[in-house]
Amino acid sequence: MLVLSGRGQEFANRVSLESGQPVQQCYQCGKCTAGCPAASFMDYAPHQVIHLVQLGLEEVVLSCRAIWVCTSCYTCTARCPCRIEVARIMDILRARARRKGLHRGQRAALFADLFLDSVRRHGRLHELELGARWGLSTGQPWREADLAAGLVAKRKLRLRPPRIKGVEEVRRIFREAARLEEGEHG
Ligand code: SF4
Ligand code: SF4
Repeated sequence: MLVLSGRGQEFANRVSLESGQPVQQCYQCGKCTAGCPAASFMDYAPHQVIHLVQLGLEEVVLSCRAIWVCTSCYTCTARCPCRIEVARIMDILRARARRKGLHRGQRAALFADLFLDSVRRHGRLHELELGARWGLSTGQPWREADLAAGLVAKRKLRLRPPRIKGVEEVRRIFREAARLEEGEHG
């Protein structure tokens, strides 16, 4: 029988509690992985991510790419005989990785940050700005320049940020989310 260290047990329990999912009930049947559309882009398959949590291997699971590649499509939940919401567990792991600074270097985390920052400032996404900031952040500023120029010329991409009426409301939602996050973990 596997005996977890105190810290490993605490981590597994905390992920179960925060996600509301019975992590220890997973018996590694692999059905979640078999149906996952993103599994081939992951370093650890969904059932392996759950196993890492069960084993209490916090540093390993919080540093893996898989938690950032998950698209929250919930196919795994539909297939799981235990009805475990793997996507919810991935959410909790991403939040925890951020709090510990382990998201740095993950391209999907960087993209998510740039995307949300654009929505926060403009009330909706400004695609051209996102593309430019992504190019600068990844050291390839000109990679999609021709494509972007063509889309601007065809009026498929806006040069100026969009203007929406409820931008202050959107910003308030972001502030409230940050406040809740701080309150929960501060
Ligand atoms: S489908 Fe459910 S029980 Fe099977 S490996 Fe995935 S999470 Fe575990
Ligand atoms: S929610 Fe995530 S882990 Fe589950 S099937 Fe979709 S991409 Fe895969």
